Amino acid sequence: MRNNDIDSLFSFIDSSPTPYHAVENMVQTLKDQNGIELNESEDWECEADNLYYVTRNDGSIIAFRTPKTIDFNNVAYNMVAAHTDSPCLKLKPVKKDVTGNYIQWGVAIYGGALLNSWLDRDLNVSGRINYIQQGELHQKLISIRDLFFRVPQLAIHLDREANAGLKLNSETNMVPVLGLNNDDEYSFEDLLLERLDVEGVEAKDISAMDLYFHESQPCSYGGMKQEFIFGPRIDNLAMTHASYEALLAGSSNTKVGLIASFDHEEIGSSSPHGASSNFLNSVLERITIALGGSREEFLKALNRSYLVSADMAHALHPNYEDRHDGVHRPLINQGPVIKMNARMRFATDSQTTSRFVLLCRQAGVPYQMFTGRNDIPSGSTVGPLIATKLGVSTIDVGNAQLGMHSAREMAGSLDHSMMIKVFSELFAE
Ligand SMILES: [Zn+2]
Repeated sequence: MRNNDIDSLFSFIDSSPTPYHAVENMVQTLKDQNGIELNESEDWECEADNLYYVTRNDGSIIAFRTPKTIDFNNVAYNMVAAHTDSPCLKLKPVKKDVTGNYIQWGVAIYGGALLNSWLDRDLNVSGRINYIQQGELHQKLISIRDLFFRVPQLAIHLDREANAGLKLNSETNMVPVLGLNNDDEYSFEDLLLERLDVEGVEAKDISAMDLYFHESQPCSYGGMKQEFIFGPRIDNLAMTHASYEALLAGSSNTKVGLIASFDHEEIGSSSPHGASSNFLNSVLERITIALGGSREEFLKALNRSYLVSADMAHALHPNYEDRHDGVHRPLINQGPVIKMNARMRFATDSQTTSRFVLLCRQAGVPYQMFTGRNDIPSGSTVGPLIATKLGVSTIDVGNAQLGMHSAREMAGSLDHSMMIKVFSELFAE
């Protein structure tokens, strides 16, 4: 069941190994669609029926389309929020000592990674390097895709209990092997400098790095009828991609259509550019002002607004059927999943659900209800955080997937287009 939406998602995921690359790719697409860049440190002027975007720290992005006519009695924000980050292995600032003749570099575990899935995978390194040149601060993204590194698993002969319950120490057992220490003294820093490729910059000029080991194998279709998709970072580049595809598809007569994709969701969203920051709130107020409105008009518009928090959902796992409530068991390729939690770990309530159900009906798309078992604590996402801060009606939804937070995840090849259709209905309102 190949389709264009999945082909486009695959090229987005494969070219977005880190949040910085995801944002860079989105910016490029927005530019191609005549999107206008806004900078938080400058004055903003916005007009009707235009596409704008603003980034923070190069890992979070907000893009919006202004309505065809500005009438502050009707202006509201129809929003979709997602995240750009995924669990991975982040390089620590200083390299590890050589063990035997292996060259290694220590890593911190970024987010709730399923550590076993990172063993014996061919890993690449990507991220950003900060350097100082002639007293000025600079930054450049790098992505090493032609060289592969590994966290080798201990052989079964040396760990007879491995299949009875693999125990991994996140500090000592997850350190990738980068090469062998030969006499030529070519180091990993030399490689990074080579790939940074800036004339005149030497090793001593590199001041800091945000680099990540990530899965190297490209996305692929799976299953007898290609009903599945396999790939890294489906959580949550899939929802990020679906939201911007819908935003680019069209505009509304009276509402501002907006997408926000935040870094740092996997580590709790508390950072200057995470979903718990003032990024979205500040951008929304500035849009109102830039369109000629007042603070009063901003607060009124907020009250009329609606936020869809879109993050992947857990599909029923055939080998662990008991992990789901008996009737709330999302199925792959059966449409968007509405996530509910009585303790508001998801922001969904009956009103926001009803509005989403109407959007699904208008889009001709089925939907599914999810709530977890009472004896398994629920995960959460950006929805409740933003809803609490902004006081905006919010729903949490996502498409069904398996292996969430694995180095390589699995979802359906039909669900993606369905979610894009529902978001497009929202942005056309
Ligand atoms: Zn997620």
